[in-house]
Amino acid sequence: MSSKPKIIILGAGMSGIACALSLYKDFDVQIYEKSRGIGGRLCAKRLPQGLFHFGAQFCTAHTMAFQNFLRDSDAINFLGSSFDVNTGSIIETKDCFVARDGMHSLLKKYNEVLNIHYNHKAIDIDEKRKLISFDSGQKVSYDIIISSLPLPQTREIFQTEINHDATFSPCLAVGMSIDGNPYYEHNAYKNINKDAAWLGSSSFYNSKNKETWVLQFSPKTSLAMMNDSDSRIQVSAEISVRNIFNGNYEITYSGIFRWKYALCNRSNLKSKFTSITDDSFAIGDWNISPRVESAYISGVALGEYLTGTKL
Ligand SMILES: Cc1cc2nc3c(=O)[nH]c(=O)nc-3n(C[C@H](O)[C@H](O)[C@H](O)COP(=O)(O)OP(=O)(O)OC[C@H]3O[C@@H](n4cnc5c(N)ncnc54)[C@H](O)[C@@H]3O)c2cc1C
Repeated sequence: MSSKPKIIILGAGMSGIACALSLYKDFDVQIYEKSRGIGGRLCAKRLPQGLFHFGAQFCTAHTMAFQNFLRDSDAINFLGSSFDVNTGSIIETKDCFVARDGMHSLLKKYNEVLNIHYNHKAIDIDEKRKLISFDSGQKVSYDIIISSLPLPQTREIFQTEINHDATFSPCLAVGMSIDGNPYYEHNAYKNINKDAAWLGSSSFYNSKNKETWVLQFSPKTSLAMMNDSDSRIQVSAEISVRNIFNGNYEITYSGIFRWKYALCNRSNLKSKFTSITDDSFAIGDWNISPRVESAYISGVALGEYLTGTKL
């Protein structure tokens, strides 16, 4: 048994992993993740049709610390360029990074360093007895608990009320392959019409793979269509794609991802993490802004706070 204080982190997305990396040398850190893999909203799937990014397709890095983290993870730095259909202009974004094998692969190597328990969904936290209950019926004790779940999901498992200004919008993401001879000029399009907010090609992240596309509906349309059948969603996706691509081509669909909690607002609060009680905390992008870098900064900020204060 470790004599170090036991820190449980819920969630193995960017913020949970960044936090764990700042803490694991000083504490007994255990991560519990509900799904069967690392990454959270950095979700990429390799399907027979190719590699699909159903979550973030790339990220920006403005701080040296995050740039170094990405370089350590073999991310590729590029100048992002997308075409805004609404304004007819090309938008260039500096310091973009992609991962060759899917954004989740930025975190994969930490499977070997960190103690991650997959397929464990936390359903309740007994703050008085310091016990977490999982959907399997298992209960685990902790000295410190850190939730890296989106705020609405964090609120569901804690009894203490959490005051925060974060709200989340949903996102329907549709993965597609395009066969035939489509004609298009750019590899990413923004503000396509009132329904579709983004259409991005996999050529961003690996030009050697077969090209795949992901269309993201706007928050309003995503909310309205969240419970629609796959075929209705595909019809809407096709209308948006045909707004952009000319030529003779067929669209084949590879998957629809229904994110209930996709993008948060930019927080007006100053703290990079949330203190729930003396020994429970929450991290995640929503403490700062809807970006992978914010998730990283939030996790590291709490790690530094806890190692600085040492129990
Ligand atoms: C469609 C989409 C497009 C995006 N595009 C971009 C972009 O272009 N650029 C950019 O910078 N950012 C983008 N983002 C945002 C970016 O993905 C997030 O900011 C970042 O990944 C959030 O990381 P996180 O650690 O805060 O949360 P998450 O990645 O959500 O991590 C939370 C983890 O907790 C797990 N979990 C949930 N409930 C439980 C439970 N009860 N018990 C245990 N585990 C649980 C989840 O499975 C997940 O792994 C996009 C997001 C989406 C969805």
